[in-house]
Amino acid sequence: MKSINLIKPYFLEKRFLIFFGLVCLIVVDFLQLFIPRIIKWAVDDITAFRVDAIRLSYYALYIVAIAVLIALFRYGWRRCLIGTSRRVEEGLRNRLFAHIQTLSPSFFDKVKTGDIMAHATNDIQHVRMATGMGMVALTDSIVLGSAAIGFMAYINVKLTLFVLIPMPMIIFGTRFFSKKMHRLYQEVQGTFSELTEVTRERFAGIRIIKAYNREKDERSRLAKISKDYINSNLRLVRVTGSFFPMMLLFSNISLAIVLYLGGRQTIGLTITPGDFVAFISYLGLLTWPMMAMGWVTNLLQRGRASLDRIDKILQIKPEIDDCSGAEHLELVQGSIVFENVTFSYGHDKEPVLAGIDINLDKGKVLGIVGAPGSGKTTFANLIPRLFDVTGGRITLDEKDIRNILFKDLRAQISFMPQEPFLFAGTIRENILFGNKEADEKELVKAVKEASLYSTIKSFSDGFETIVGEKGVILSGGQKQRIALARALLRDSPILILDDPVSQVDMETGSAIINTIKSLAGIKTVIIVSHRLSAVQFADQIIVLDNGRIIESGTHEELMKNDRYYAKTFRLQEIEEELNAY
Ligand code: ADP
Repeated sequence: MKSINLIKPYFLEKRFLIFFGLVCLIVVDFLQLFIPRIIKWAVDDITAFRVDAIRLSYYALYIVAIAVLIALFRYGWRRCLIGTSRRVEEGLRNRLFAHIQTLSPSFFDKVKTGDIMAHATNDIQHVRMATGMGMVALTDSIVLGSAAIGFMAYINVKLTLFVLIPMPMIIFGTRFFSKKMHRLYQEVQGTFSELTEVTRERFAGIRIIKAYNREKDERSRLAKISKDYINSNLRLVRVTGSFFPMMLLFSNISLAIVLYLGGRQTIGLTITPGDFVAFISYLGLLTWPMMAMGWVTNLLQRGRASLDRIDKILQIKPEIDDCSGAEHLELVQGSIVFENVTFSYGHDKEPVLAGIDINLDKGKVLGIVGAPGSGKTTFANLIPRLFDVTGGRITLDEKDIRNILFKDLRAQISFMPQEPFLFAGTIRENILFGNKEADEKELVKAVKEASLYSTIKSFSDGFETIVGEKGVILSGGQKQRIALARALLRDSPILILDDPVSQVDMETGSAIINTIKSLAGIKTVIIVSHRLSAVQFADQIIVLDNGRIIESGTHEELMKNDRYYAKTFRLQEIEEELNAY
């Protein structure tokens, strides 16, 4: 029952609206039940020849008035009850998004984005349906169902009992079919998202497809997925196609019973002709509550299961969080110390970093180099606590970073990850993401420092150029420089750059390195690079190999060692000279 607590606040918040909505719904139910009564009076009057045109017009007017009232009250309950279910949907979605954002990167490594999307769409939709239409169907099946049966029994109990015989078939039939239809509908949704995802991916990778002459294979691959989509649709059509006629069959069996038994009772004067006609009308009204009874159990079960799944996600605690007693960090100096740091991506996994000792004073520059997979990115990720060390500790201004409030720790760090990620929007929005308060002068300064100014000026929309899927196509180097400008604009005492010149040409790379050089003494800089000339000026350079520091020192010291650093440096120098020709 715990997961119900998730939606309780919204029900409490909207309690008056829900009450009003339920009143409207019940009023609609009773107004509907009145129409057969009016028909009964009219038919009885007509068959007894005691009616004139004026009286008939009154009956007609009553029916119109009731229809108008039904329309008004129906609008009322829709606004209130369906509106409340939308509020539940909105509240749950915001809560889920806010919570998922707090989870650690390791959660996103383990859980597929598609699964998270399913919780954010399908599960929330199920809860919305259960709280909206579920509530309506439940009320209708109880109120309208029992009232219609009551009115019918008031006319004739025996006839009512006979007419009710096929009703359980409607209830169980709806339950059975709606379950099946829902499963098939999910299947259709699944194949449709696969179809759109494959189409999107193939168009995004159109150059590779063309380069490898794979158009024909890709066409048949899409044709197969397209066939799956059509087949799942046809399966759904087959079930929906048999559901409605079957329900109609059951209600028609009831109608046949009324016609035969009710007709005989009318001839035998047990009931009046008006009662007979009214009975048929009540029967028409009874079909929906019977179907609702079968539907509602599915809606509520599905909603409940989805709510449990949402609750389970909300119960997940971030692996990395503020520990109790975490302190504020006011003005940071920026000295970073790694003390015998070990890290592995899981208890059962080999350490990716081991025995790391580093002492980086305020304003100093640390260069990290090493072969791919040696642990450079992992090293950089440990400082803003994207992951927590599994052994040893990292201190910032002599405080263990695990004892500093998250917010304060990350406020001290400008971080440029290896993969420059741009959000759909303008270049300006993407750069200001790092510092919303920055003014135009600061923005232009950061852009110039990232060697991006002339590139932006060459775009006709300048800073307002849209990037992302529908925007201009940027080169890897341009994206990287936007990400660099974003990090530089943040202006925090610690700057971490993960391979900032990996995708730019030598000249732009040198300009960027000059910018980073100019920050030496002002900021504590950690720069990861596969290009050794980018860290040449660093106060301290470490070479990682298989998660261990195998060399450490300044450029001059390492060159004397004649090991990995010196050899790679010379090789890259020759490569750069060759490229210059
Ligand atoms: P580098 O930056 O030097 O290329 P990384 O720090 O990216 O090295 O990776 C070091 C090792 O850690 C590699 O073996 C890599 O496969 C592994 N690794 C990196 N990220 C993850 C992750 N999120 N989960 C599990 N293993 C990872």
